Amino acid sequence: MSALTRVAVVGSGPSGLYTAQALLDQERSPHLTVDVLDRLPSPYGLVRYGVAPDHEKIKSLQHTLRRVLEDPRVRFAGNVAVGPGGVSTEELRGLYQAVVYCVGAAADRRLGIPGEDLPGSSSATDFVSWYSGHPDAGGGFPLTARSAVVIGVGNVAVDVARLLVRGAAELRGTDMPQGPLDALVASGVRTVHMVGRRGPAQAKFTTRELRELGTLPGTDVVVRGEELAGGPADTAPDGLPTAVRRNLDTLRAWARTPPAGQDRRIELRFHLRPVEILGDTADGVRAVRFERTAPDGEGGVAGTGVFEDVPAQWVLRSVGYRGVPLAGLPFDDRSGTVPNEGGRVLRDGAPSPGEYVAGWIKRGPTGVIGTNRPCAKETVASLLADAGALAGRPVADTDPLRALEAQGRSPVLWPGWLGIEAAETRLGRSLSRTTAKIPDWDGLLSAAREPGSGASGLGGAVTGAAGSPA
Ligand code: NAP
Repeated sequence: MSALTRVAVVGSGPSGLYTAQALLDQERSPHLTVDVLDRLPSPYGLVRYGVAPDHEKIKSLQHTLRRVLEDPRVRFAGNVAVGPGGVSTEELRGLYQAVVYCVGAAADRRLGIPGEDLPGSSSATDFVSWYSGHPDAGGGFPLTARSAVVIGVGNVAVDVARLLVRGAAELRGTDMPQGPLDALVASGVRTVHMVGRRGPAQAKFTTRELRELGTLPGTDVVVRGEELAGGPADTAPDGLPTAVRRNLDTLRAWARTPPAGQDRRIELRFHLRPVEILGDTADGVRAVRFERTAPDGEGGVAGTGVFEDVPAQWVLRSVGYRGVPLAGLPFDDRSGTVPNEGGRVLRDGAPSPGEYVAGWIKRGPTGVIGTNRPCAKETVASLLADAGALAGRPVADTDPLRALEAQGRSPVLWPGWLGIEAAETRLGRSLSRTTAKIPDWDGLLSAAREPGSGASGLGGAVTGAAGSPA
């Protein structure tokens, strides 16, 4: 049996926690300690700060992931940034036999069209971060807009469009911070145009998410029948994957249904590619100019030279996430991932001993949360196949978390996170809600450090059953 004792997982989102779980499942040694480090004082990554607040069922995955963090061989250490200003990858290599980077894809992709930086043009990921209460999120969204355009037809676009038309009754039961909740309820947005550059058969949203749009109170969903025609649904209907067929059936049903004159509407548009965001720096966005496209026969589209301006005072660019380089790790700028083979980080084409990746930084920002489980298992299989060599790697003779503390860092440990959870419940109750997220660093850190939370200081509160790694 291998003698792995110290592994760090960087990132406590689904990929990080599935990695920790796979390590615990496959490496049964009681001497193994897995430290799960996170830049934020809170665990769960995109489950906390990306999954839409009204998707309680997906959010409840936190209960499953929590069990990983409660395992006596695991130690959560939040408020530990890896990279510039924080712990370097080199330091981690000296503290742990193996480090698995599960840092996700933190940036948004750009459209590269004129007007993209006008006031009123926002990235959907920034908007998601804001309503999810991410402590680094900005604000200043033009919520007085009557008309918003969401560019892209993936699941993030659907989330954003849905949240823009939700009312107070539906939002109060979520964990959304009170500020964004009040702002969304008071928003002037009445029409949301969600626009795809290709046809409905190429849309990235999943059927369940699409259908949910048809259930939103006080909201019409409007689809133009002519924009559904001409794709593979007409030319090769038998070859369509089930998910695509279901999406098309849903869209066709909406196209046949006249709007009921509800207060709000979501317009689903296809075959329109954005060419310019129109407006000026003084008054912000006025409209988005699209060029109508036609299928090119190979799954792509070609421009037709016909243009359409969709009036809007707010544009949300929802065209996908993108990985960002982590100082000290190689990075492939084209794919936005760390070069790897089965999860082993490749430096100059060769596996780098003790360094691994899992999740979006390994394979790119695709798939649903569950996709991270097999991805993590593959990485852990590589790591454990290397275990003999890893166990022999020389690492510092001190407990890594104590070494971080000795450097003046103040990790938020598991009891500190429990302090944050308790404070969010108290805050929610004070607002006659179940819970409400604390959306700022000061609030999170002071909740973590309240007496009794044992947020910092390793004295017994943390190491718990894991004890001191060998
Ligand atoms: P996504 O699924 O990759 O969708 C991106 C969308 O942007 C596509 O419609 C894409 O069109 C479009 N796009 C890209 N570049 C464009 C451009 N230059 N101009 C116009 N449109 C452009 O990304 P996402 O919506 O950010 O989602 C990321 C991942 O998270 C996905 O795997 C998603 O399923 C997952 N997610 C899941 C849920 C859920 O399960 N409820 C919720 C949120 C996110 P093309 O196809 O033509 O490139």
